[in-house]
Amino acid sequence: MRHFLGVLVAERIAAGVVAGHRLTGPVNACPVEGDGGGRLDLAPAGEILRAIRQGVEMVARGRAISAIGVAVPGIVLDGVILEAPRLPQLKGVALRDRLREACGCPDVWVLNDSHALAAGVAASRGEVDRVVRVWNLGDTVGYGRHPQLGGLWEGGHCTVTLDPAERFCGCGGVGHLEGILGGHAMRLRFLDLEPEEVFALAAHGDERCRAFARLWHRALAAATGSSIHLDGPGKFYITGPMARFVDSRVLNDYLEETVQMSPLRGSYVEVAAADAEIAVLGAAIAAGRAAGSGRETAPAAERVPAAK
Ligand SMILES: [Zn+2]
Repeated sequence: MRHFLGVLVAERIAAGVVAGHRLTGPVNACPVEGDGGGRLDLAPAGEILRAIRQGVEMVARGRAISAIGVAVPGIVLDGVILEAPRLPQLKGVALRDRLREACGCPDVWVLNDSHALAAGVAASRGEVDRVVRVWNLGDTVGYGRHPQLGGLWEGGHCTVTLDPAERFCGCGGVGHLEGILGGHAMRLRFLDLEPEEVFALAAHGDERCRAFARLWHRALAAATGSSIHLDGPGKFYITGPMARFVDSRVLNDYLEETVQMSPLRGSYVEVAAADAEIAVLGAAIAAGRAAGSGRETAPAAERVPAAK
């Protein structure tokens, strides 16, 4: 059986080995060293690369690894990190090429962490042969798809309202999904309330918070509906710390309102637990699929057009 290796680079670095769509053992933490006290956002890019390489060696334990998948929170194109607001030191780093050299593995696949979550959730539910999409709700909003397609897929920044007052998205864009759903945006909107207090007050009848909870669910249904209209119906999973605020019945009702064409109906939205293990599993599976298809980069037809 072939072995694939998954790495998650987020608040910490974690790595594990996958065979037959399952982790072969526990996921190992790969600490960074230096003056930042172990914080990844304070570690230089070179130290992050060193920690990844050490983690790869630690979990591989001398086994032949067919491909390595590395999930990072940011925009990734052709193995290069174009943007990474939470790990800005990685911006512009050609992570795939650097890790190929450092790890001695020709098949390294770098992907956005939400795509890794989608692949991991698919594998954990025996759905690797289906299209699975994930909304990852935290302080920011990620969108992942399994199997991965070429392109950027910054679904958290799709426009869900034309209200010019909706300016809370971290990217600065107006009317974005993340500007309504993201934890950071919620704190900017309700300056004196944490997200859990907003939803608790909504449950106790506070009209401002109830109206916001409706908007929150409508926005997620609108973005999900846009994905269905562009990519077809299917299964959507909602993960991340803010997923606990989802009322699946309300969300599915709003989704039904927004998707009316009969060939596009029949989608399903469910809240799913997903942690670092799921992302590591998914990163390895995505790398295995990319290696199996012989795909080194997105096919030319799937590439993002260059900005003028
Ligand atoms: Zn945005």
